[in-house]
Amino acid sequence: MERIGFIGLGIMGKPMAGHILKAGYPMYVYNRSKEKAAELVEGGAVSASTPAEVAKACDIIITIVSDTPDVEAVLFGENGVAEGLSPGKIVVDMSTISADATRGFAKRVAEKGATMLDAPVSGGDIGAINAKLTIMVGGDESAFNKCVPVFQTMGTKITYMGPSGAGQATKMANQVMVVSCLAGICEGLMLASKEGIDLNSLIDVVSGGAGASAQLTLNGPKMARRDFSPGFMIDLAVKDFGIVQQAQKSHKLAAPFTALAVQLFAAAQSEEGGGKLGTQAILKALERMSNYQI
Ligand code: NAP
Repeated sequence: MERIGFIGLGIMGKPMAGHILKAGYPMYVYNRSKEKAAELVEGGAVSASTPAEVAKACDIIITIVSDTPDVEAVLFGENGVAEGLSPGKIVVDMSTISADATRGFAKRVAEKGATMLDAPVSGGDIGAINAKLTIMVGGDESAFNKCVPVFQTMGTKITYMGPSGAGQATKMANQVMVVSCLAGICEGLMLASKEGIDLNSLIDVVSGGAGASAQLTLNGPKMARRDFSPGFMIDLAVKDFGIVQQAQKSHKLAAPFTALAVQLFAAAQSEEGGGKLGTQAILKALERMSNYQI
């Protein structure tokens, strides 16, 4: 079995790494804040003190950190993954970052004789916990094929999308589709609430019809019980839409729904601590605009 390195044990990374470990792969883990590695180490993973150490010890090195500069730091910073790479190793970045930057990172990894895949995920914290993620992959296809059994421990829909950057390009489109849906759910809940409809019954019945969506399933019940704890943080959504809008601008695409979503995220982020809440907290921004709480 390949030795798997896992870097970034946040809301997504920790359960994802847990599934790989449970499947029996020898594993090295690294997290900037050491304490997040404790549970995996108890389960048999080896705690590495730097990303370079992870890369030296492993055949496949997975990263899932926050933003483009964070991936760059983990890969190419001091004691970064690049220092431990050699021919044949595969780097798999599962963070959501810029497709353009990813293509540049893949070239720098190739200079070490190694291969880099971009493999962002969709499905939220619940998808990560239940090993039901959707994984969209760009890069060398034979490296993808080698990684499929590892992806299968974390996800159920695993798709090769094309050359380097294709995974991240797919994820950008995914985010655009998700956000219009999320905003619509908030507006629907507010209307139903004003009409005196029980929100849990509403979510249940709509989920059986044409209004069904992963967002309604993941975030609808949380909104109804006013649980704004993060599955996917507002700060990270703002990061994603920075990437999305830059790409839309470079392609000269009109994208009014994205622009509107960005304003809702800004409003949600402006509340004290708002950036650390989950994306379902755009409901609170809409409530403030309407002076009405569901
Ligand atoms: P998170 O809980 O905030 O975790 C971020 C992880 O990255 C932490 O382990 C953090 O280390 C590490 N990190 C950040 N910057 C770093 C740096 N410069 N150097 C080293 N480590 C660094 O976020 P998350 O929700 O797991 O998201 C991770 C990625 O997955 C993001 O790109 C996000 O957009 C994407 N994603 C998230 C979801 C979701 O629903 N949450 C869904 C799909 C995709 P510390 O513990 O030391 O802070």
